[in-house]
Amino acid sequence: MEREIDVVVVGGSAAGLTAALTARRHYQDKSILIIRREEQVLIPCGIPYIFGTVESPENNLIPDAILGKNDIELLVDTVVDIDRAAKTLQTKGGETVLYKKLVLSTGSLPVKLPLPGSDQDSVFAVEKSVPYLESMLEEIDKASDLLIIGGGFIGVEFADECKKNRNLNVTIVEMLPHCLQAAFDEDFCKQAESLLDSKDINRITSEKIERFTGDGKVKGAILSSGSEIEADVVIQSVGVKPNIALAKECDLDIGPLGGISVDRSMCTSDPDVFACGDCAEKVSFFTGQPSRLWLASIATTEARVAGANLFGITRAYPGAIGVYSTVIGDTAFATAGLTEKGAKKAGYCSVSGRAASVNRHPGRMPGGAELVLELLFERQTRVLIGGQAMGAKSSGELINAVSACIQQGMTADQIATFQTGTHPALTASPIAYQLVNAAEEAIGAMNE
Ligand SMILES: Cc1cc2nc3c(=O)[nH]c(=O)nc-3n(C[C@H](O)[C@H](O)[C@H](O)COP(=O)(O)OP(=O)(O)OC[C@H]3O[C@@H](n4cnc5c(N)ncnc54)[C@H](O)[C@@H]3O)c2cc1C
Repeated sequence: MEREIDVVVVGGSAAGLTAALTARRHYQDKSILIIRREEQVLIPCGIPYIFGTVESPENNLIPDAILGKNDIELLVDTVVDIDRAAKTLQTKGGETVLYKKLVLSTGSLPVKLPLPGSDQDSVFAVEKSVPYLESMLEEIDKASDLLIIGGGFIGVEFADECKKNRNLNVTIVEMLPHCLQAAFDEDFCKQAESLLDSKDINRITSEKIERFTGDGKVKGAILSSGSEIEADVVIQSVGVKPNIALAKECDLDIGPLGGISVDRSMCTSDPDVFACGDCAEKVSFFTGQPSRLWLASIATTEARVAGANLFGITRAYPGAIGVYSTVIGDTAFATAGLTEKGAKKAGYCSVSGRAASVNRHPGRMPGGAELVLELLFERQTRVLIGGQAMGAKSSGELINAVSACIQQGMTADQIATFQTGTHPALTASPIAYQLVNAAEEAIGAMNE
């Protein structure tokens, strides 16, 4: 069957769905089609919660109703070929689709460690697939010893969730000195680690896995120090790589970190093909250099740029800031922009300010919890370049305000005089509001 469509989006997850919805908002008379491989789309960021809080993949799905409501067609099929000269694509199911504009949002694939023994049963990576995660859940429910490789936020979330309601021995092995080190400075990492300790989650840092043991089904792993840990299930959460098979096959330019090359409008080397999400190459907001940040928040922002620009460029992506949060038990950890270490590496001379207070006033109001915020400024210009928060769950929203300040290039003085709305049952006191007070603290340090 052959059909002609104005906008074809390949991929139906965070980036693809958002690109299609944005295209619909901006171009009401265009026909829009999403082609995606899977019947059911998982909420990618909710995957660790399948193993504890939400209990099953079925409770962690993006509903398709939004497509019908926005007059977006769906084809569940795999795109196998793109002919850019003819502006057509072919699917595995035998469809030919002619497009005017094409959006590639083919996402990423989990990195699998090419170690001896990694092809055995019960060695998993985090694949975004319902049947795959169902079999992983089944194995974890039967397991006694779970080994998680990688102490980034995904590994830590898996550890916390898998430990819930299970008598399971959980060990995280991380090659860096601390868990969460890529996104947080040391004192935040240490706080997170002490929470993991309090939950009886074992932690081995500054160590790598050398090989897996077993006889077809994994039994354990040998570490770089030579010691051995038992494991009847292994989860590898060691990063992702852009899924660029289609882009490569149709000869689009590829960037230095292996993503599809795009300009600030999210246009690829072909003016009729856009790319967004994990499959697209990223540059840092701060340095303009290639960036290894792969996040749903970035994917959807890029998609809002791509979707709006399809038939006329109106938006530019400023580069990836890197904003996200996680939670261990009831304690949130949130980060935006550069850490102190990252700032130094990028050549910034920085100064920080920290403020801590309860997120209610008086602190005895229901829901009161301590929230610590640290802000990082460039010393000379006094411009905000990073922030980290921990404690109350409102850290997750506060860090988004920090990101807005970073994106707008706000200075410490502008943040210190930022007009905030407060309420006893909802926020910290206006006198102790962490965002303005951390900026005031930093100003003090700048003036020393
Ligand atoms: C466990 C986990 C937790 C995470 N938590 C967070 C978080 O808390 N916050 C955050 O910001 N980010 C988080 N992320 C990262 C986030 O999930 C990704 O950045 C996001 O999924 C990227 O979205 P995407 O649409 O670009 O790609 P993907 O989600 O990888 O989707 C790719 C889509 O393309 C389709 N596709 C690929 N090839 C073809 C083809 N040939 N034909 C048809 N369809 C195709 C796939 O079927 C899929 O629909 C997490 C990731 C994981 C794995």
